[in-house]
Amino acid sequence: MSRSFRWLPHEGRRHAVSARLEVRDEGVTLCGIGLVVPSSPAYPQWCWPTCAGCDLAWREHEGIQPYPRPTGRGLEESGR
Ligand SMILES: [Zn+2]
Repeated sequence: MSRSFRWLPHEGRRHAVSARLEVRDEGVTLCGIGLVVPSSPAYPQWCWPTCAGCDLAWREHEGIQPYPRPTGRGLEESGR
């Protein structure tokens, strides 16, 4: 399954951008912030909170339900 987006730390939040962006490309996050893709984000930046705007837009695009997610019960039919 191909991913449409990748996550980048930017100004205290992790934002989603198009997966087609390469390092040093200028892009726009799902929440509308312009940024330049960093070459190698430092580890602590990956601990930054996820941008709520990007998260919501990403979930809508990927068809993922907002939290709380189903735990799996009821999703798989037993077929009996
Ligand atoms: Zn964002």
